[in-house]
Amino acid sequence: MKILNTEFNLDNFLKKLKTDSPRLLGLDYDGTLAPFKIDPALAVPYPGVREELIKVIENPRNRVVIISGRWIKDVLKLLEFKKRPEIWGSHGLERLKSNGVYQTAPVDNQALRGLVEAGNWFTSANLSLRREQKPACLAVHWRGLNTDNHRKEIAKVTENFQRIAGKSGLLVQEFDGGIELRVPGDNKGDAIRTLISEAKENVIPVYFGDDVTDEDAFQAIKGKGAGILVRKKLRKSLADIWIKPPEELLEFLSIFE
Ligand SMILES: [Mg+2]
Repeated sequence: MKILNTEFNLDNFLKKLKTDSPRLLGLDYDGTLAPFKIDPALAVPYPGVREELIKVIENPRNRVVIISGRWIKDVLKLLEFKKRPEIWGSHGLERLKSNGVYQTAPVDNQALRGLVEAGNWFTSANLSLRREQKPACLAVHWRGLNTDNHRKEIAKVTENFQRIAGKSGLLVQEFDGGIELRVPGDNKGDAIRTLISEAKENVIPVYFGDDVTDEDAFQAIKGKGAGILVRKKLRKSLADIWIKPPEELLEFLSIFE
């Protein structure tokens, strides 16, 4: 574990957790709770994480929310719980509340045309990169590929997504191992801000993430609770603490049991 933010006081934070204040735990999925797999359908949580999360979810002081870049339906296949937590998907564009209410960002005609055009272009370009269709969003992945060998393909996708974004009001967002074209709805930072606004004033928000898209959430939580960067290799981040999965992640989650 390493403290990344010199203004962050770990002892004070741990003391605060011992009070009666409610806690809001936002957790990214891929790379944070589960190791990356070339086939994303096989990316199950690290050993012990599911069991630890069940304990954390059972503590009534905790509100646990999964905030993933994946389509919610794909997160559900990998995270089966008796008591399902709330899930935000597609980097904040979808929300499935714990009571079953589902919301997704609206897509206007211009944005829809842009997404269809991008999908058609990707099909005709016949690239060896992986395509992922999500609500209000089209992602292209190159994780697990040698990026040097696919440099031209990646440049083509980036260039075409930017071209289509420019005329359709869509946004281009890069993430670790890919890029996506999405409607300009909520990102992970907006998701955290919404969740904090719905909580009691004394809520302690904590966010666990690994990717560049998690930086929006770290920014949103700054000075309020703790942003926790979860990854094997340290990188520059707005998070307050860096921990390595899975051991340090399990240790940190157990604080919230
Ligand atoms: Mg991630």
